[in-house]
Amino acid sequence: AKSLGRNTYSFFTKEMNDMILRRLEIEGRLHGALERNEFEVYYQPKVNVRGGCIVGAEALLRWLDPMLGSVGPDEFIPIAESTGLIIPIGKYVIEQSLQFLALWENDHRRDYTMAVNLSPCQFRDGGLISFVKKALNDANVSAERLEFEITEGVLMVGKAYVDNALAELYKLGVKLSMDDFGTGYSSLSYLRKYEFDLLKIDRSFVNGITLNKEDRDLVKATIAMAHSLNLLVVAEGVETVEQLSLLDELGCDIAQGYYFSKPIPARKMIDFQISKITD
Ligand code: C2E
Ligand code: CA
Ligand code: CA
Ligand code: CA
Repeated sequence: AKSLGRNTYSFFTKEMNDMILRRLEIEGRLHGALERNEFEVYYQPKVNVRGGCIVGAEALLRWLDPMLGSVGPDEFIPIAESTGLIIPIGKYVIEQSLQFLALWENDHRRDYTMAVNLSPCQFRDGGLISFVKKALNDANVSAERLEFEITEGVLMVGKAYVDNALAELYKLGVKLSMDDFGTGYSSLSYLRKYEFDLLKIDRSFVNGITLNKEDRDLVKATIAMAHSLNLLVVAEGVETVEQLSLLDELGCDIAQGYYFSKPIPARKMIDFQISKITD
């Protein structure tokens, strides 16, 4: 039993060691990644559930490092957050996605919205609001075309600078979307406290709606609640036509997911057309 304990111990430390090394490696490479032009913003279309047309897209960041290969945002975003690198990286995403939005709208002769994810620490940067204003101006995009997706992690910070930044964004006319709704503890109280325009139902619930009544009832109640607060409801992670038609039945406004498209680079997004919708 003693030797087993020791083996378990050393196995554990090797795993820990690998994790720390990987983290350090990513952190080291992340430092020069912007300058080396290794990031690319991908876009995932958002589709009007009723009409079946594209209403906009979510910007999702991709990183291809020549040494590490492709590293997913779930892995590098937390590291970018803890090192502060998310500030310049986040600015890059805002800039790129607004430039693309202008091009896309112009090419299609239609109005779209662009949703950009914001990390809690981006609120701490005092220059966020003026940067957003300038980026909108430079791209010649009006503020209501831009949506910021924020998780309740942002609001949990409970700091005055978050409240101020949200109030400033609201004044600017930028839309606010509550991301990953249902996964946290206090999303409801935040919906009451802050001026949100959209609510995104987390993928884990969308996944369950065709499988169990509990998730279906939860999603139904969430949609009713959101509508009573005048929020548009977006379902993320829609993968099947069954999920889509059920969401339609439940009154969901907008859908996003692999059923329509994975996140794709700008050049593909320009040509993207909706080919699949219910009925
Ligand atoms: P998120 O904001 O919840 O984004 C949705 C994630 O679900 C994306 O993963 C997207 O590719 C994936 N997804 C979309 N449709 C489906 C589907 O039908 N099925 C499945 N299984 N997955 C689907 P991704 O691109 O790997 O991003 C992961 C997370 O990284 C995002 O979660 C977001 O929190 C963060 N992230 C990505 N880009 C940025 C960024 O520019 N800034 C910040 N702050 N965070 C970002
Ligand atoms: Ca999001
Ligand atoms: Ca999510
Ligand atoms: Ca998320």
